[in-house]
This record gives sequence, structure tokens and C-alpha cells, in this order.
Amino acid sequence: MSGSSERALREEIVAYGLKLTPSGLSQGTSGNLSIRCGAGFLVTPSGIPYGEITPEDVVFVDMDGRYDHPRRPSSEWRFHRDIYAARPDVHAVVHAHPPYSTALAICRRDIPAIHYMIAVSGGDSIRCSDYYTYGTQELSDAVVRALDGRMACLMANHGMIATGANAEQAMWRAVEVETLARQYTLALQIGTPVLLTDAEVTQALEKFGNYGLMSKQTATPTH
Ligand code: 13P
Ligand code: ZN
Repeated sequence: MSGSSERALREEIVAYGLKLTPSGLSQGTSGNLSIRCGAGFLVTPSGIPYGEITPEDVVFVDMDGRYDHPRRPSSEWRFHRDIYAARPDVHAVVHAHPPYSTALAICRRDIPAIHYMIAVSGGDSIRCSDYYTYGTQELSDAVVRALDGRMACLMANHGMIATGANAEQAMWRAVEVETLARQYTLALQIGTPVLLTDAEVTQALEKFGNYGLMSKQTATPTH
């Protein structure tokens, strides 16, 4: 995919934005998504319904948070920027408020090793970050901490973040995290979930590098 233009990345953001609601990840204007691009990233504009966002509406933000666009970038541009700064392996970020992930985050629960698909997180759990007001630097610092060694996290009383080597992988991971959150919530209603052992999780993590979209390590091209 090398050689994809900024225009193609703008179109990709519009296309994945349109999938957020049908995939059960977001409603209304909640959530946002970005793709690393050159010396910064392209991000959805703030507060515009996904069905109305055109490629031109997508905002380029540099790593100092500067932009030159009639639209404002997502109010969460700080955590998108800080994740790219902290994590060279990440080339796309999806943030959403899906019901099960958010319900667990309201209860300030991490998702433990309930299923081998926990490996989508890159570790044996999906952490829940501390709570801070949306759009703040404090929230950004908290989610970068929760993402340490992980590709996804929950956000207390807010939602979730999934990252990826490209936008396709970040979207796939977001849906998998919401599925794990749903499974964990259902299991908690039935009884006491039995967790996988460290050895079982390690085996799953070792196999997982070759599984499905994880085997496609190609980053979304940045130009
Ligand atoms: P934006 O429309 O500004 O991206 O905000 C949505 C959101 O989910 C804030 O956390
Ligand atoms: Zn949000």
C-alpha cells in the first residue's frame, strides 16, 4: 500500500467513520478516529455526524497540536497525538463509546484474561484508565499510561480506545474489545468468571501474532 496519498487516507477516515455506528461502536457524533500522516496525523473533525464528514473536512494536526483548517479537529486530538508520540508501532487510533466497554469502564473494571482473544490487547488484560474530563491533557496522559504495552484500553466513565498498525486493524480491534466486554459482562451475570492462567495467555499471545489481521503488520502508509 506504500505510496497512498494524503487524499486516500482522508477517504479512509471517512469510510471507517461511516462504519462506527453500524458496527455498534458509536452513536451520534460520539467517538473519533485518526491515521498517522507525515509529521502529524489526520483526524475526524469535532462534533460532525459521520454521515456528513467529507474527505476535505478531515483535519491534519501536527505533533505540536497545530492545524490550519476551518473545522476544529476532534476535541480528543491530544490523546491521538500523544499515542502517536509514545507509540511508533501505532498508525491508527479509534475512540468510541460502545455500550459494554463503557459499562465496564463506568464500574472502573479492567477486562482480565477471560478468553484467548484477550491477546488482541497485546497482553493479558485491557486496562481501564483513570477518569478525567474529555479533551484534557490529563485524560491523554491517563490513556497513554493505560495503553502501556497494550493496543487497547477502556476509559473510566467514558469509553474505549483501540489502536492498530493501520485503520483496518484498529477498527477490527475495537470490535473485538467490545465483544470481550460483552462476554465479560454476561459471564459476570451468570457467576464468577474463571480466568486463563499466565501460561495459557502466553501461549495464546505467541499464536496470535500470525492470526488474521494481526499477521498483516503493514502500517498504513504515511504518504
Ligand atoms: P469529538 O466530536 O470532538 O471528536 O468528540 C467526541 C468524543 O467522543 C469526545 O470524547
Ligand atoms: Zn469520547
